[in-house]
Amino acid sequence: MNSRNARKLCLLALAACLTAGRAAAQDEGLNCGTPDVMPALGKSADIPKITKTWSGKLKAMVIRVGFSDAPYAIDTATINKTNGTINTLYRSMSRNTFEWDWRTYGVILNAPGTKAEYGANFSSLQSWISSQMTAAGLKRGIDYDVFVASFPQISVGWAGLSNMRDADWINGSYSAGVTGHELGHSLGLPHAHSIEAGPDMFGTPGTTAQTNEYGNPYDIMGRGGSTGHFNVLYKWRIGWEDSAEIKEVKASGTYRVYAQDNAVHKGRTIGLRIPSGNASYGYWFEYRTVSTSARNGATVMFQGFRTATNLDSWYLDTTPGSKTSGDESDGVLAVGKSFQDKYGQTSFKTLAINTGTFTEEGWVDIQVTIPGSNPVTLTNNRNIRLFRDAGVPAFNIMGRAMENLSTARMVAVKQQDGSIRLVVNSR
Ligand SMILES: [Zn+2]
Repeated sequence: MNSRNARKLCLLALAACLTAGRAAAQDEGLNCGTPDVMPALGKSADIPKITKTWSGKLKAMVIRVGFSDAPYAIDTATINKTNGTINTLYRSMSRNTFEWDWRTYGVILNAPGTKAEYGANFSSLQSWISSQMTAAGLKRGIDYDVFVASFPQISVGWAGLSNMRDADWINGSYSAGVTGHELGHSLGLPHAHSIEAGPDMFGTPGTTAQTNEYGNPYDIMGRGGSTGHFNVLYKWRIGWEDSAEIKEVKASGTYRVYAQDNAVHKGRTIGLRIPSGNASYGYWFEYRTVSTSARNGATVMFQGFRTATNLDSWYLDTTPGSKTSGDESDGVLAVGKSFQDKYGQTSFKTLAINTGTFTEEGWVDIQVTIPGSNPVTLTNNRNIRLFRDAGVPAFNIMGRAMENLSTARMVAVKQQDGSIRLVVNSR
C-alpha cells in the first residue's frame, strides 16, 4: 500500500471518480461513485496472476464528520455493529486470514460548510477532512491504513466512494453493504458486473450498453450486499484462493466444485477457470450456497468483456431476458442445463448438486467437454497414420490433442489426393 505507483494510481482514480463516477452510479441504484481502474493483464489466454495477497490486519479508522447545518448523528453502537458485520464477511471470505482492525477517531470533526455546499463541491469536503486529519497528527501506515469518512447525506448521487486505496467516503447511513463494498475497492477490486444483452446471453464484448455495472446479484462488489462473498476471480486476484483451489481446465471431464462462500474449504476445488476458444476470453465457474437463488447450479462469469486484458468479472445470466436489476437472479446454470462457448466448441453442463446441502459440503458437478482434448498416445510403430474422424468437427495438430513430441519422434504432414494426412514416425 505504500508504493509510489499505488499513490499515483490513487490520485488518478480519485480525479476520475469525481468526473466519471456519477454516471456509473445510475445503473443499479447501488450508488457507488468509484470507477474501474484495474491493471491490465499481460497475456489474457492464461489464468491471471494474483495481484497482491492481502493477509493479516489492515487498520480501518472511522472519521465522523458533521456539517454546520447537520450534526453527525450516527451513534457509536451502530458504527460498531456495522463494522462487526463487515468483519464477519471479510473473515469468511478470506477464511480467517484477513480482517479489518477497526478504530473510530475519538473526535467528531465539524466542518464549517453546509450540506448544500458540500453536495455542490464534494472535493472541498474531501480536502477539509484530509487537512483536519493531518492537523490531528493522524498518519497513514501508523494510525490507519484506510480511513472511512462518514458524514450526513449530501446530494452527490452516490452512497459511497473509494480512491481504490486508503480513503473511502460514506454518504449518509452507515451500512455494512455500502461500507464493505468501498473497502473492497480499497483492496483494489472493481465492481462485479453482469452482461445484459437481452436474449443474447453473451452479448458483444466491448459493448457498454450490454452491461449492468453492479449486475452480479451475489457479490458485494455487485449488489450482493453485506453477505455477498467476492466472486472467485476477485478472490483469486487478491490471493484468497490458491492454485489447489482454482483449477484451470484444459481437458474434458467432470469437475466437482465446492461452495466458495464459506470459511472452511482450504484445499478443495472452489472454482474453475476455463479458456474460451478465443484466447482473449475465459469463463469462471463457482458454486454459492448463501443466497437461495444461487443454490441450484453453477454461477458462471465471463472474463474479458470490457477489453481482452481487463480483469473485471462479468456474471452470465444463463436464462437471459429483459434488462432489469432482478433478472440475473435466475441466472445460474441449473442442474441439467448447458451452454457452449461463444467462441469455440467447448461446452459446459451442470450435472448435479449436493441436493439439500447448502453448507460447506455443498457442491456442483460441472461437465466440461472440450473436443479433441483427450490425449493421443503415440506407440512405437512405424508409419502411424492419423486421420480426422468424420465425427470429429476439428482436430488441431498444434493444439492440445497430442502428447508432447519427444526427441525420439518426428512428425510430418503430407498432402495426398487433396486430403491432409498426418504421419507420425518413430525412429
Ligand atoms: Zn463501488
